[in-house]
Amino acid sequence: MRILVTGGAGFIASHIADAYINAQHTVAVVDDLSTGKRENVPQEAQFFEVDIRNSNALRKVFEDFNPDVVNHHAAQASVPRSSKDPQYDASVNIIGSINLLLLSAEFGVKRFIYASTGGAVYGEPQQLPVNEDHPLMPTSPYGISKMVVEHYLRFFGREQELSWVALRYGNVYGPRQDPTKGAGVVAIFAARMLRGERPIIYGDGSAERDYIYISDVVAANIAALKHGQGPLNIATGKPTSVMQIYEAVSAVLGWDKGFEKRPMRPGEVQRVSLSVTQAYKTLNWEPQVGLEEGVRKTVDWVRANIDRL
Ligand code: NAD
Repeated sequence: MRILVTGGAGFIASHIADAYINAQHTVAVVDDLSTGKRENVPQEAQFFEVDIRNSNALRKVFEDFNPDVVNHHAAQASVPRSSKDPQYDASVNIIGSINLLLLSAEFGVKRFIYASTGGAVYGEPQQLPVNEDHPLMPTSPYGISKMVVEHYLRFFGREQELSWVALRYGNVYGPRQDPTKGAGVVAIFAARMLRGERPIIYGDGSAERDYIYISDVVAANIAALKHGQGPLNIATGKPTSVMQIYEAVSAVLGWDKGFEKRPMRPGEVQRVSLSVTQAYKTLNWEPQVGLEEGVRKTVDWVRANIDRL
């Protein structure tokens, strides 16, 4: 298949692009390199340095590459930045996505895979673990923009018969996560400890998230080429506190100098874990990597790359 991966210079989608190439697909990457790095784009992939807000430039990509599948990961992906600059967040995450959907419909794309977020679209959950039928009550502009695009997917699915799936990830972690970009607590803690600086914990450390390792997210994106329809949680179903992450990273690095405490940031959810029953049923997918193994691999990568981060 010919697969257009947006955001393929970034953390998650660069791994997906690698996996699609390994599976013998033809891959092109669209990325404006605003947070992504050129070196993350696989050499075998055609690369278009394009801002998804620029629909004329995007049209040329579709004319040139003519994709069968669009895997859409390009986004403004930071919750704090979305609170500070909701216009920028909406322009990239909503308008950029609409540009892609319009072109996908026009160029007869057969399948649209969208990177959504289980950590931010539900808001503060009414019950745990949250399943896909839970009301969407996002508490940040980022969660709002991700939710809105799911509604556009439903619209394009109905009006244009576009086949789509929205993968609502938990907190994804793993190699290539850039600790300088305001997201990714495992990499951020590891980088600070490796520099001899105490990690910062916002709130009292009891905030719980559902952490999912990158290779499990990649496996879901492989399965989603053929299976699944609508929104699907991609996570572990298990809550892990920020303090547990701090302890896990400390254990790998032998860190004993403690942490700094700061007030909780606006827009952050206090507790979330995501039911993955639906992904198991429709994608025949379940997470394979436990927290200890995932944290160790991530810390190893940060250690090997600390001079470039
Ligand atoms: P990332 O910042 O590493 O990747 C995003 C990529 O999109 C970057 O390479 C960036 O340069 C590119 N991009 C940003 N704006 C663009 C624009 N206007 N035009 C073209 N390219 C643009 O972040 P990530 O963590 O890899 O996230 C990838 C996707 O997964 C995002 O859609 C994000 O919302 C979603 N997601 C991430 C997580 C997580 O825990 N990391 C959780 C849920 C959902």
